[in-house]
Amino acid sequence: MEYREIGKTGKKSSVIGMGCEHLDGKPYEQVKETIDAAIENGVNLFDVFMPGNEVRQNIAKALGQRRSEVMLQGHIGSTDLRQQYDISRDLPTVKKYFENLLRLFGYIDFGMMFFIDSEEDYQGVFETGFVDYIQKLKQQGDIRHIGFSSHNPIMAERVVKTGVPEMMMFSINLAFDLYPADAHVLDELGQGLNKNAFCGLDPKRAALYTLCEQRNVGVTVMKTLGAGKLISAEHTPFDKPLTVPQCIHYALTRPAVASVMIGCQSRKQVEDAVQYLSASAEERDYTHVMTTLRNDFKGNCVYCSHCQPCPAGIDIATVNKYLDIARLDRQNISPSVRSHYAGLSHGGDDCIACGSCEKRCPFGVSIIKNMAEAAALFQ
Ligand code: SF4
Ligand code: SF4
Repeated sequence: MEYREIGKTGKKSSVIGMGCEHLDGKPYEQVKETIDAAIENGVNLFDVFMPGNEVRQNIAKALGQRRSEVMLQGHIGSTDLRQQYDISRDLPTVKKYFENLLRLFGYIDFGMMFFIDSEEDYQGVFETGFVDYIQKLKQQGDIRHIGFSSHNPIMAERVVKTGVPEMMMFSINLAFDLYPADAHVLDELGQGLNKNAFCGLDPKRAALYTLCEQRNVGVTVMKTLGAGKLISAEHTPFDKPLTVPQCIHYALTRPAVASVMIGCQSRKQVEDAVQYLSASAEERDYTHVMTTLRNDFKGNCVYCSHCQPCPAGIDIATVNKYLDIARLDRQNISPSVRSHYAGLSHGGDDCIACGSCEKRCPFGVSIIKNMAEAAALFQ
């Protein structure tokens, strides 16, 4: 397993995390088998957003003494008032559900302000006592860090800019990133992903990821496989389906992303997900999908690493990623971005301008120019 820091929390999560939604309604033995397989494979981050008591109890029992070896995302405001997954901002209701989670797990590593997708959601959290409750939970040590979940890049940007959250769970996959920021991606997912609405990598989504990297807000990812549609021959919006490693790699190569949460309900599904770690660079490469779409990517790095290897040992995608963040505010590059860049074994100044990467880049990125710019900005 590989581990990455979740932004400013300082905690390190496995790059493959586990979404536990599909364990809802499953017998305890199945829950235990799946959790055991995840832990045996080095998974240390689990998302428990489900409000139901039985599935929560099953997960807590399956973890048993291993509770402190793993980290949990627990969602504040997730309820099942109408016998279905529901959002509440009503404090007595919110407390009832979250305090049940605390009783079962002792503490929650990442207390997630649940589902902030609309203006109403934003006001329900930030213009009521909801946010005070979250901060009190943190002061008391009931939650160790504050996070939130969202599917809407415009709302998510607003939430990040409040300075309250230390991390974010966001829906990231190639299809969602190709939709305009104001599209309701969950509705699109329900109706079937529409290739005709794709318009190149949406700048607001890209800006959200770079903002997170700039502010050191770690990102965990949901909907990595687009509810299975991206990997389905029948439902894929692309010329051919992506594979699981390609979907995981796309999400893991976005700025600030620490972990992708894959929904699993069996040992086999956990083992399939962690296969990503042994996949070759060719098996992870997702660029064929993008080159068959309208080429709105021209000149912009999508962090795919198709241009590797570099004889100077430069991780070109990563240098480009930090460069894009630095370009947001050249005079005030954040210390965390500077220190991440400084931590690279080779930087832009190592480029010998051989040009081999530019021949391999499907998107016509001026890599040699970028390396020189990065060297100048980060000197
Ligand atoms: S420079 Fe081109 S090939 Fe390299 S990571 Fe960026 S988009 Fe991919
Ligand atoms: S041009 Fe620079 S970055 Fe590209 S492969 Fe050659 S040395 Fe590496």
